[in-house]
Amino acid sequence: MTERYDVAIIGAGPAGLTAATYTGRAMLKTALYEKGAAGGLMAITDKIENYPGAIAQSGAELAEAMLKQALSFGAELKLGDTQAITHNGTVFTITATEGVVEARSVIYAAGSIPKQLGVPGESAYIGRGVSYCAVCDGAFYRNLRVAVIGGGDSSLKEALFLTRFASEVVIIHRRQEFRAEKIIQDAIRNHPKIKVILDSVVESVEGGDFVERLHIKNVKTGHISTEPFDGMFVFIGYTPQTVPVQSLVELSDRGRILTDAVLMTKTPGLFAAGDVREKLVYQVATAVGDGATAATAAEQFLAGHH
Ligand code: NDP
Repeated sequence: MTERYDVAIIGAGPAGLTAATYTGRAMLKTALYEKGAAGGLMAITDKIENYPGAIAQSGAELAEAMLKQALSFGAELKLGDTQAITHNGTVFTITATEGVVEARSVIYAAGSIPKQLGVPGESAYIGRGVSYCAVCDGAFYRNLRVAVIGGGDSSLKEALFLTRFASEVVIIHRRQEFRAEKIIQDAIRNHPKIKVILDSVVESVEGGDFVERLHIKNVKTGHISTEPFDGMFVFIGYTPQTVPVQSLVELSDRGRILTDAVLMTKTPGLFAAGDVREKLVYQVATAVGDGATAATAAEQFLAGHH
């Protein structure tokens, strides 16, 4: 017989881990699905400085502590990809690499994955000079020259992190203004290892076995220059992972899941939490809040109070 849970939580980032702690404490039988390492994007963040109480803590440490806490309250961790979630009006069926289970409610917190630039050479050089994770790959670029693409919080924070290893970090941004927090902009300004190229985009990536050069176009003048680089780190935003629930939810024009005030989607019993849903702020602090809200709302839904 198919195993049945009260709640299936998809994604063990800060939203999913918090939700699991709450549903576990509410004595709900909880399955927690994760396709990679627990912690999601938080786990590959070097330092988290704006999550209250965690003063300059590493994302990996915070992820480990959150996972330990969630499992201590009884959540069952299931490693593997979640391929499909269906609903028959009463029960959800979750089909994942490790098998099929049923759940009376689902908290979907699958997060998002890094976007690619989509320029020639980018895909071919992934793992050979093109990266989307400075914490994972930064140490390979000791005394080398790297480009960082993007003007948001991720890009500038990761550029700062890369200065620990690289001889020079060149931030290439398509506009004049960065959208990153002012405090991070201040940190990169006048940094001896950071150079900034504005109003510019990468046209293509070239090299031999590894990346050797980038063709960079100034979008104002149209001028294309070629600069030597050993690596290119791309941080131009993230794509929400919504495929398994697409027929059960409504999406915003940014492709994120729309929820009501208690984070329920258009399908009763299906909640969305964290980066996968449409909201104003995408940070660990708000993901944790989402997880707590969705779990409490799921508990009330299951008790028939919704
Ligand atoms: P953002 O969407 O905030 O920024 C993406 C950047 O990439 C923008 O500067 C954008 O340019 C640029 N960009 C997008 N597409 C392209 C393209 N095709 N070619 C070139 N450049 C492109 O993403 P982030 O990952 O930086 O942040 C995501 C969310 O996570 C944000 O809400 C952010 O605040 C949050 N975050 C917070 C952190 C923190 O410590 N506070 C750390 C990391 C993330 P343009 O500006 O012109 O649109």
